[in-house]
Amino acid sequence: MYRPVDESIVRRLTEIAGPKAVFSDKETLDIYSRDETLGLSHRPEIVAKPATSKEILEIVHLADLENIPLTPRGKGTGLSGGAIPVCGGIVLSCERMEKILDIDHENLMVITEPGIITGELQKAVESESLFYPPDPASLASCSVGGNVAEGAGGSRAVKYGTTKDYVNGLEVVLPSGEMTSTGGKVVKDVTGYNLTQLITGSEGTMAVVTQIILRLIPLPKLRKDFLIPYRSIDQATQTVSEIIRNRIVPTAIEFMERNSFELAESFTKHKLAFRDAAAHLLITLDGNYEEVLEEQQSQIGEICEKNGAFDTLIANTSTARERMWEGRKCLFEAANHFGSMYKSLDVVVPRSFIPTLIKKINEISEKYMIKAMSFGHAGDGNVHVLLFKGELSDEEWERRIDQTQRDLYRETINLGGKITAEHGIGLLRKPFLSMNLDPYQIELLKRLKKAFDPKNILNPGKIFDLP
Ligand SMILES: Cc1cc2nc3c(=O)[nH]c(=O)nc-3n(C[C@H](O)[C@H](O)[C@H](O)COP(=O)(O)OP(=O)(O)OC[C@H]3O[C@@H](n4cnc5c(N)ncnc54)[C@H](O)[C@@H]3O)c2cc1C
Repeated sequence: MYRPVDESIVRRLTEIAGPKAVFSDKETLDIYSRDETLGLSHRPEIVAKPATSKEILEIVHLADLENIPLTPRGKGTGLSGGAIPVCGGIVLSCERMEKILDIDHENLMVITEPGIITGELQKAVESESLFYPPDPASLASCSVGGNVAEGAGGSRAVKYGTTKDYVNGLEVVLPSGEMTSTGGKVVKDVTGYNLTQLITGSEGTMAVVTQIILRLIPLPKLRKDFLIPYRSIDQATQTVSEIIRNRIVPTAIEFMERNSFELAESFTKHKLAFRDAAAHLLITLDGNYEEVLEEQQSQIGEICEKNGAFDTLIANTSTARERMWEGRKCLFEAANHFGSMYKSLDVVVPRSFIPTLIKKINEISEKYMIKAMSFGHAGDGNVHVLLFKGELSDEEWERRIDQTQRDLYRETINLGGKITAEHGIGLLRKPFLSMNLDPYQIELLKRLKKAFDPKNILNPGKIFDLP
């Protein structure tokens, strides 16, 4: 189907990006054959690391002309296999494109290249009293381009929304080798279809993002974080529902079951307070007025107490805050570190159904006798579930895991939910897409993909199977 990468293609890529930006050695190809998705890999034929939009344009043009598959890549932290080049070809890494081009105080926007690490962009705008709220737990290592491509979320979605709510404009290279810009610095824009939002979350299958305009907001002056332990998961999830019902919208409400914080403890070697707890909530409040925060804090405190919380631990300094959150943020890394085989789910339900969803997860885990660990963004309805192979034989695991996932997805969908909230379909969730979207929608999505990429050279094999 596709042309293999031969000497003449290597020569052309080297002419475009320079000899130090093109790699075909085994070690590099191995690194770029994976992302953070467990158990999936495929080697590219070559890796190119362009430094400018113009170089990207020329590389995509070459891939189009010669019919070579091309997989864009940010920092490779994806959790659905999106950056794995399943058809070989070229991996186009944006990691060298990490400049912030403009922080615009008058329009409250930042223009950036895609390869910048999300946490670095946040620090840069915060040093100018501006705020870019999306905060995936991987923010110290993922790129803004990867966040745009995945529509990444994070814990602050409860109050501030996700990446898509901040993408105001894009410069992109289309698979046909043309460059165009969508949106801009304008606050309002209904000029034609909203291509900015169509490309955001398209998992690198519609266009290569070469520049991004992000909306900023003023940096809140105050922040408080709380760790709240509970005797039962039910008490913790009921608290979440009650907080929202009481019209309090914290910045973040995260939860961890006991087996999650035990895993975090073994990884970080830091003991959590209240080790007897069955679940913990982590709550963040932010704002500009101490009285408002205090009022919210006391309302939340009452709700927590009423629902059986042991206590409330408060972090007021950045060091205490980091310590409080490190357990929650390290969980994927910790699961990978201990080498256990698992499948990771990223389901989302309307947030009022969080208690029901957690019950269903535990029932299904018992039914199939597969150990489940749940944690995540309770405040926005998004739960990450790790299903562990444990001592099961390979055959037994294969037999049970598909059914376990299907049951879990069915329950999620029955509650009005979706099979992925922030990690994307990629390779991992392709087999389950038709459970969540009807055939008409899937057909429409495929037609959109074809309109952008008629030769299917851009990140082929993702979201949909190869034709
Ligand atoms: C420990 C850990 C915690 C995480 N926590 C969260 C979380 O809280 N919330 C969340 O949403 N995700 C989370 N993730 C998943 C991951 O970090 C995000 O999906 C992130 O957006 C990926 O960014 P990246 O730069 O690593 O992209 P990559 O993994 O390199 O690529 C991801 C996708 O984006 C495409 N892509 C990358 N750059 C471009 C570009 N310039 N143009 C077009 N397409 C492009 C790729 O083709 C691929 O499909 C976590 C991952 C880990 C390992």
